[in-house]
Amino acid sequence: MTLVCTGIGIGVTSSIAIGEACHLQSGQVEARRRTIAREDVPHEIARFQQAVLDARKDLNAVRDQIPAATPTDICAFIDTHLLMLEDAALVEAPIETIQSQCCNAEWALQLRRNELVKIFDAMEDPYLRTRKDDVDHVVGQIQKHLLGQQDSAVANEKDLKGKIILAQDLTPADTILMRNQGVAAFVTEFGGPVSHTAILARSLGIPAVIGVHRVTQYLKHGELLIMDAEQGVVLADPDERTLNHYRKRLGVEQAHIKSLQSLVHEPAISADGVEITLMANIELPEDIEATNDVGAAGVGLYRTEFLYMNRAHPPNEEEHLASYKQIVEGLNGIPITIRTLDLGADKEMDSCCHDIQPASNPALGLRAIRLCLKEPKLFRPQLRAILRVSAYGLVRIMIPMLSNLQELHAVKLIIEGLKQELKDEGYDFNPDIPVGGMIEVPAAALAADSFAKQLDFLSIGTNDLIQYALAVDRVDDEVNYLYDPLHPSILKLIQLVIQAGHAANTSVSMCGEMAGNPLYVPLLLGMGLRKFSMQPGALLEAKRIVRASNIGSLTQQVADLMQHMDERDIIHCVKQLYPVTH
Ligand code: PEP
Ligand code: MG
Repeated sequence: MTLVCTGIGIGVTSSIAIGEACHLQSGQVEARRRTIAREDVPHEIARFQQAVLDARKDLNAVRDQIPAATPTDICAFIDTHLLMLEDAALVEAPIETIQSQCCNAEWALQLRRNELVKIFDAMEDPYLRTRKDDVDHVVGQIQKHLLGQQDSAVANEKDLKGKIILAQDLTPADTILMRNQGVAAFVTEFGGPVSHTAILARSLGIPAVIGVHRVTQYLKHGELLIMDAEQGVVLADPDERTLNHYRKRLGVEQAHIKSLQSLVHEPAISADGVEITLMANIELPEDIEATNDVGAAGVGLYRTEFLYMNRAHPPNEEEHLASYKQIVEGLNGIPITIRTLDLGADKEMDSCCHDIQPASNPALGLRAIRLCLKEPKLFRPQLRAILRVSAYGLVRIMIPMLSNLQELHAVKLIIEGLKQELKDEGYDFNPDIPVGGMIEVPAAALAADSFAKQLDFLSIGTNDLIQYALAVDRVDDEVNYLYDPLHPSILKLIQLVIQAGHAANTSVSMCGEMAGNPLYVPLLLGMGLRKFSMQPGALLEAKRIVRASNIGSLTQQVADLMQHMDERDIIHCVKQLYPVTH
């Protein structure tokens, strides 16, 4: 009998894994209270301090093992945990408890952990609420040393190669070790599509299914599992027939991934001769290589938020310029769209924005362009640097989260003022630098005709468009099942934007996750979308689909689908648009 568990699938290059289940103990250790003699208090404190030092040593060792090509956001997770191990809020309170209560270090640490978790639980921002995981990870590291369990669960396992890991949650350190040990995939009980675990899985290219509640109770250590990350499904104890089916699919998938390499230098032209632009989404200088490797036609979205993270002050103009220049020069002449700062809501406002009051409802509050217009000290240096880097390559400016034309006029006014400043100061820049906007607020999609007349290009941000149109928080796994790119309202909004762009002769691209999902590419082609931007890992498959598609007939089919949209039937119709030939 086959047991099926479902969750949220995370697959980038591959989606199928077959392997033995390997249970990893959760980092949580239940501490018990022990009373100690007053004269033993100094020894107990020393034991606690030593455990903190050892936990730090472990994390530093993990940090040293991170391969050079690993994205810096992953290193940042480890750095955050290292900083927490130095934070008085975590490491000094237990010492006071040991002194005042004459209790063991494990118990004192557990009390502190409970207090901190309570504070995070009370936070309204769902992203910040998930940060309690960091507290648990760090506390778990110290507890293991106090209890004499020196190594992490991953390090304890002798051979993880080819295994499918089952865990309640994974620490960033464990995830990195897992990649180095060649695990096939992992399944966790907790986490949403933009949780730490999901971010890490995508960045490291490990297929995963996350948010499978109680999976560690249902599945046995050592049993054979099949994971289909595309469907978000884990199968246990498969019969021979199922196994053969998936083995075949895995073989086909691996051969397919290999064969895609032959498309790197081929044009993205449909079977009936329509030229399509396939671009990459990037966040870090490290992403340049992947972008060049897949032969992207440009960068359709450079998310600049990482420049502002993990630092005490916002970056100055020269720092912005140095990062942009490194990226522009690394891209060998392909155009790049630099999105201005989109901090707030799911994109954590870090220490460099500590003087900004947290919004009561961050997704609807001061984020992205709203924040930038309010805080010129964040915005002006960035815009000046983008203008200056336009002297070095084909650079475009993109404004996130526009909701009305006044915001756009305000931005344009600032840009014109800065151009004059730079001219007076003798800097080179492109005076005709294109300025585009993200259409990711439903109101902007409905008013796309006005935006299209005022902007040089539009880019549809489906991640937020779906969140706002369907009133589904994109980081909350409790309502994740409602997050539906094929909801008729979403398709209508996308169509409106594409049509508005055509009518005004303004180019329209899409840079939300939907653009890189192979299932949606034919649908979007049929809707008239000609420019796509996606993670570099998804680009060659999109190119294959483009080359196998007949856009003339897709246009007909999609027009029909849009006219007779039956919510229950959309997914079926969309699947039929997919070109089956590999
Ligand atoms: C989007 O909202 O679709 C988008 C691309 O922006 P981000 O995911 O950075 O909010
Ligand atoms: Mg967005």
